[in-house]
Amino acid sequence: MTALATAHEYSALGLPVLPLCPPSHRPCATPGKVPFSTDTGYHLEEWQRRGVPGSAEIDAWLASPIAEQLNLGLILGSYMRIDADGSAGFRILTQWSHGDLPNTWEFTTRSGAYAWLYRAPDGVTLRKASESAEGEHEGLELLGTGQQTAIPPSAGYAWAPARDPFTFGRAAQAPGWIVSRMSSSKVVDRNPSGWIASTLAGLHDGNRNDGLAKIGGWLRRYGATESDIYALLEPHALQAGLPPRELGTIARSIASYPSAEPFPKNRTPVIHEVRIAR
Ligand SMILES: [Zn+2]
Repeated sequence: MTALATAHEYSALGLPVLPLCPPSHRPCATPGKVPFSTDTGYHLEEWQRRGVPGSAEIDAWLASPIAEQLNLGLILGSYMRIDADGSAGFRILTQWSHGDLPNTWEFTTRSGAYAWLYRAPDGVTLRKASESAEGEHEGLELLGTGQQTAIPPSAGYAWAPARDPFTFGRAAQAPGWIVSRMSSSKVVDRNPSGWIASTLAGLHDGNRNDGLAKIGGWLRRYGATESDIYALLEPHALQAGLPPRELGTIARSIASYPSAEPFPKNRTPVIHEVRIAR
């Protein structure tokens, strides 16, 4: 059974699942992880307010000629995810939780990270909180409202034994330390001061995509649009020899993440240009 074909089972449990782009998606900064429209063949924006899909909607997804290639995502908000990446992730998790990690839904990801899903307490909005080890990609993220995560059986994702929603039953409620970490909505910038200038000064073939994407992500958090990000990074991308098309892909991908601004209601859905031939 392909990942998307399990959507019926998850929706029967009341879970807000949605299709994600294929793990082979190119050009795509995070293939297999971005909400995707089977109607248009493009990345999908404005997915944050979608609820539990109905049967007919899921059948329409499954009728897509590329349905078998698509991953399955879970919209967060009523659930939160712990994302522990590498030994630094587990070290920070231990510091934050002091071992208070009730059994709940648990899975591993394609990149080898560990994930736990907890229910948000009623009426509480849980926002992203994260800490990363200095100079490393590894770290801990608590993901919540305005975000989504790929879940098993997406390619490379697997539930821990007996920790899937079908065997385990209802997910545990998020323990208090998670609620207090995620209830403060402030975005904490843990980058050292001067990091943007030094990142730009140190761009070379091997790090220019990551460096520009990191700066773009920072701009996005403060509300920059796709064209803002492109315009601000373009001179640096040119100097570093990054083709404009690749910078366009980076800017588009970053802009698909929620910004710090509240999501406008009733806005016409904007669709990305990362298209799959059908
Ligand atoms: Zn994609």
